Parts: sequence; C-alpha cells; structure tokens
Amino acid sequence: MNSIEKFEMKLSIEKSKDGKRGVHFKRSIEEKLDIDEKYLRKTTPKLPQMSEFDVVRHFTRLSKLNFSIDTHFYPLGSCTMKYNPKINEETSSLEGFSKLHPYSLEECAQGILEIFYDAKERFCKICGMDDGTLWPSAGAHSELCGILIARKYFELKKEDRDEIIVPDSAHGTNPATASMAGFKTINMKSNSDGEIDIETLKKTLNPKTAVLMLTLPNTLGVFESKIEEIVKLCHDNGTLVYMDGANMNALIGIVKPGDFDVDIMHLNLHKTFSTPHGGGGPGSGAILVKKHLSEFLPIPIVEKDGEKYILNEKKPNTIGRIKSEFTNTAVLLRAYTYLLMHGPKEFKEISENAIINANYIKSKLEKIYPAYSKKYCMHECVLTPPKEILEKGIKTLDIAKRLLDYGFHAPTIYFPLIVHEAIMIEPTETENKETLDSFIEAMIKIYKEAKENPDTLKNAPHTMPVKRIDEVKAAREPNLRW
Ligand SMILES: *Cc1c(COP(=O)(O)O)cnc(C)c1O
Repeated sequence: MNSIEKFEMKLSIEKSKDGKRGVHFKRSIEEKLDIDEKYLRKTTPKLPQMSEFDVVRHFTRLSKLNFSIDTHFYPLGSCTMKYNPKINEETSSLEGFSKLHPYSLEECAQGILEIFYDAKERFCKICGMDDGTLWPSAGAHSELCGILIARKYFELKKEDRDEIIVPDSAHGTNPATASMAGFKTINMKSNSDGEIDIETLKKTLNPKTAVLMLTLPNTLGVFESKIEEIVKLCHDNGTLVYMDGANMNALIGIVKPGDFDVDIMHLNLHKTFSTPHGGGGPGSGAILVKKHLSEFLPIPIVEKDGEKYILNEKKPNTIGRIKSEFTNTAVLLRAYTYLLMHGPKEFKEISENAIINANYIKSKLEKIYPAYSKKYCMHECVLTPPKEILEKGIKTLDIAKRLLDYGFHAPTIYFPLIVHEAIMIEPTETENKETLDSFIEAMIKIYKEAKENPDTLKNAPHTMPVKRIDEVKAAREPNLRW
C-alpha cells in the first residue's frame, strides 16, 4: 500500500484537521443560545473536522470497497441476494410513507394500513394459508413469533409439550428460536439424501413434541419429497408443523405450503421479495398461519371495518405485541412493490429460473467440486472441495477468499454444518448465463491454482485492502483501525 492509499484507508477521525469545515453556520458556537444552560454540553463533540469534499470522497471510496448486488455477483447461499428493482426504492421513499410517525393515528395512516392488509391477503393466497401478520422484523423474529403462537396454543389446550424437533438440515436460527421460546430442542439426523428419515421421525415424535420445525427446501437445497407423510405423522401425534419459508424462492408459484397442511410458516420478505439486505438488516417477515391459530396472532391486527382500516388490539388470546407500529415499513413497501409487479405466472418463472440457475452451476462444477447430493437441487447447491486439494491443505475458506480476487462475493461457507467444508451457492433467478459462466470459470481456475500453486490460495485475497483477519478476534475485540 503506498502512502496515498494508506491515507485513503484512514478513518474519518484520523483524517480530521482542526478548523476544517463542511458547513459554516452563521451563529458561532460561543454565541449565547436561548436554551437553559443545564441542557448545553460542556465540551465540544469529538467529531471529525473535514471539508465537504473530503467527506464525499471518503464515503464514496468506502462504498466502492464494498461488495454489493449492484456491483458484484453475490451467490450467498440461503440468503437469496437477488437484484432489487430500483422502482422499489422510489415507492419506499415516497414521503407519505417515509415520514409516517410510528404512532400515527389510524385516520392518518389509512394508506399504509391498506397495504398491510392487502399484502397479508396476497401472501396468504400465494402460500395457501388462512391468516397472518407482517409485524415481524426479520426471519428469525418471525420464527420466534410463530413458536410463541404454538406455545400459546398448547397452553390453552392445557397440553404439556416442551419439545421441538429440529432436523439437522434446518437453519441455525430454528434451534435458537426453539430455545428462546423456552422449548427443548431435539436434533434429528437426516438420511443420506439430506431429507427427513421417516423411521427416525416416528421414533423421535412423542407426547411431549410440540412442534416440528423444518426448513423447506432445507439448507441442503433439498425439498422433502415425503412432506405430506411427515406432516400427517406430526398431526396424528398432536404436533404442529412450522415451516421456515426463507427459501421460498424455490417454491413460489409452484407449491403452496398450505396445501400440504403446515400450520405455521414464515416468509423472508427481504429475500424472496427482493430488498437489499445483509449485515444484520433491515428485514421484514410475514408469519402465516392456518385458521386454528389465527386467534393467537400478535396485536394489533389490521382489520377492515367498512371502508376504514383499523388496528384491533382486543384479542383475548393474542401472544401480545412483538413490535412497535408499522414495523420496517420501507422493507414491506419494497416487497409489496415487487409483489404487485409480478403476477402468479411470473412468480412461477422466478422459482423455475432460480432452480435452473442453481442446477446449471451444480452440473458444471460437480465434476470437480463434489456435490453433497447427487439429486437435482432446488434454488441452491452445496458443493465441497475435491479430496486432492483438501489433501494439499487447501480449505473452503481459501477458495472463498480467492473468489474475491476474481470479483465475486464468496458463497456461504461451512454451512450447512452437516457438510464437511461446505460451499453453498445460491445464484438466484436474476443472474444471467454470462455471469454464471464467469463464476464457473473462476471456480475452475481456482481448482487448477490449488493443484499447481496452492500458496496463491493460502495467501488470498491479493487485491483487497484487507487480507486475512483473525475472525474470532474481530468479532470479540473489534478494532476498526489499522
Ligand atoms: C435467512 C434465513 C433465516 C433467518 O432470517 P433473518 O431475516 O436473517 O433473521 C432463517 N431461515 C433460513 C432458511 C434462512 O435462510
């Protein structure tokens, strides 16, 4: 790194020079303000002092260091990082929505309430469910909401069930949710095809089983071919079935989970229905339920009273409130725009193209990078590094880091946990063949490098401002300066 690059990489506070200003206020800081002395701060705030131009350059450069869907192929498995149509940004920033106060009166919020109502109806229709709510802030938050609904259902039935079965192919948030909601998590091993094993399920189900929480398609990108039998076994045992629908990008327009009788499910609006996300947010989730669980939905319920939309809080069996009013409205608006722009026929095409893209990558790469499952995958595929390069000490992490040099965001790695050195690729339907081909080409090049010159991988990335970092230390003791 030369000295100019080093300067560019500094934090704004390190670039600060006393007296530099972006804006000059007419009134000086020292001038007496018409505010009671006790509310005034005694020392000046420690803010970087920079010119407007310095600030613009600083943040523009930083933004260019980032990998984003608008700049790079982003095949992060299980995240559905699809293109976010720009019209979504237009609608979500309309003033009537963006300036809405979270505690606006119903009369002042008829527009957004109508959208809450209509979006819920549409999501129910798409999924074959009866009722739902859009209050949850993300996928994991939806899961918690859904499992609290199940808890309330059993409480009212006076059934003492405290176990939730989670297959080992489920998303990590599923067992975490079960624990947070006060249940025991019973981990269940999948069969060699990556599906739930019927005999194992029969043995695991018992009178204490409250819920089977499954991810569909699961984190191996596999659809449970025996889903109807699985649901029936659960229902015969008095057990509810929760479907983690964060992977609905593989099913939308093709399958309605309500048709195979799941009791509760969630959608990740920020995955299946576009919206840029990552780094912890923002997100938005829909919880959808069958009729028998409707009374437990969180308040307030958006209802239609004649021509008026209202927020109904008088629901005796509700699990209560899970979020302040209007939730992550901007995310919901993006999802709603996406929803209105695509009819049922197009939804089917979305899933079909997502599935074709994932299978295209799988079929081109599995000769080199063995696939976990020999079957067709759904919207994502799970590959592993070949033995001959693992034996050279190359790990999945090295491949992921090298991909950055080729201009690709790394796929999800080391997940699902049940696959040793997993590489999980989800291209989504929004990528074209040329992009997929160049990614495939990079993966093949990396394989050759691993065989011929493994150090190229072990020291990768070579072109990024930050090389390898101690990731545990980075999480525990973050130091953002270097
Ligand atoms: C992303 C994801 C979640 C969690 O969703 P968040 O919005 O990140 O909380 C849960 N399950 C699956 C299968 C996922 O892919």
